[in-house]
Amino acid sequence: MASSLVRGKYVVCGGEGGGDSRVIEDGAVYQRDGEIVEVGTYQDVRSRYDPDEEIGSSDFMVVPGLVNAHHHVGLTPFQLGALDAPLESWIIARWALRDVDPYLDTLYCAMQMIESGITTVMHNHMMARLPAGEGLYESASRIVQAYDDSGMRVAFSLSHRDQNHLVYENDESFLAGLPSDLSRDVRSYLNARPISLEDYLTVCAELFDRSRSDRTRIFISPHNVHWCSDEMLRAMKEFAVRRGTGVHIHLQETAYQKMYGARHWGKSPLAHLADLDFLGPDVSCAHGVWLTDSDIGILAETGTAVCHNPSSNLRLKSGVAPLNAMLERGVTVAIGIDEAGINDDNDILQEMRLAQKLHRVPGVASASPTSHDILHMATAQGAKVTFFDGEIGRLAPGMRADMVLIGLEGISEPFLHPDTDIVDALVYRGKGSDVDTVIVNGEVLLRGGELTKLDKAAILGRFKESLAQPMSQREIARGELSRRLLPYVQRFFEGWPLEHGAPHYYYNSREL
Ligand SMILES: [Zn+2]
Repeated sequence: MASSLVRGKYVVCGGEGGGDSRVIEDGAVYQRDGEIVEVGTYQDVRSRYDPDEEIGSSDFMVVPGLVNAHHHVGLTPFQLGALDAPLESWIIARWALRDVDPYLDTLYCAMQMIESGITTVMHNHMMARLPAGEGLYESASRIVQAYDDSGMRVAFSLSHRDQNHLVYENDESFLAGLPSDLSRDVRSYLNARPISLEDYLTVCAELFDRSRSDRTRIFISPHNVHWCSDEMLRAMKEFAVRRGTGVHIHLQETAYQKMYGARHWGKSPLAHLADLDFLGPDVSCAHGVWLTDSDIGILAETGTAVCHNPSSNLRLKSGVAPLNAMLERGVTVAIGIDEAGINDDNDILQEMRLAQKLHRVPGVASASPTSHDILHMATAQGAKVTFFDGEIGRLAPGMRADMVLIGLEGISEPFLHPDTDIVDALVYRGKGSDVDTVIVNGEVLLRGGELTKLDKAAILGRFKESLAQPMSQREIARGELSRRLLPYVQRFFEGWPLEHGAPHYYYNSREL
């Protein structure tokens, strides 16, 4: 390891306790062996240290490494053949997706993420995407290995479920209503590769025990409340508590999931989790679109976090999460790109911009997230939910040296008013293509826009080659089964008219 001095026209240090970011003009960060030793003005820091290397210049701004707090895959479902659709039918349409090599797929998205300034990711791997012939542990460990090879930090989890695989009711009840040949084929598909809770926990324990990298955390993940029995939820929580690790779960992503709670427990899925004593600062929930006021109170009281995924929520017709209400109540909210982002490209700067614009509600006095709020969500809050809290998320002595240099030219040329707050400039105008240098733990992963640890051309070549094979019989059959099943899934949810409570936001006109 070595030392370096990282210089920028602006060094955005991140805010203490959610306040505005401290910004140092003509600043520098001195790091040694991956730890930040000092942050200050360039002249001051430069005069006191003799770094092995000087990185950056006054052409850049320096920000803490960005955190993508909810992520699943490399090639997007769209690239793999599934057009955006409401979540409930999209899940079935995803059966038609091509199988991909998990190692190459992860390297592919790690490259995209590093190029857009992401240094840490919450990677949630779904069972349905296991490639043929490979065991669960092998597949999962190859993903973790890919992150290790990329140099990124990862909070990795395998998600698991044990019920309601087709629609939001018992599988057998739903299968009983299908034509007999379809029912038989779907049942045999569901039974093809069952993974028991015990097997799942064994694999998680193995991943946990064998993980050696300081940059890796192994989490546990029940897929979503209605997809897991209480027995599964309890066992997973118990595992997390025993191992001192985090729990990542999807929650109230759609109106139907909220309605499922009302029908099955007489309360929201989140309130059901509270009854199970499941919640706490170790738990982060992806989406949280259909939260009630009481739910937001539960999140705030228990310290449970939400990972906000604005693009995904729009793309899958899930809705708009009540971000302003959550921020007002002090809920920990991080930002995730989920499976693609608005441009289908894993650019977190654009996701941050969307998160900010989406919650600008009409009204001269209405609250809306500031650029500093958004940056805080993408840094310190992301650090918290991925269990790297106290190590990353801010640029301060004693923290790990994770930072991003972003070129100012694209953001501020030919003119940007000199009074403009640089964090506003970043959130209003920054793009992944402005990211020049990415550093994790003092190690440079991207320099001058070029990856240093990964051979991009070679990886893309191997990845393309692996996908150039014709579709396998297994993939073709799965796609066909999905197309036969979809109309019945659609019909099921047509029988659930959307219920409306008092909305959090007023975007549209009502009757006068
Ligand atoms: Zn997700």
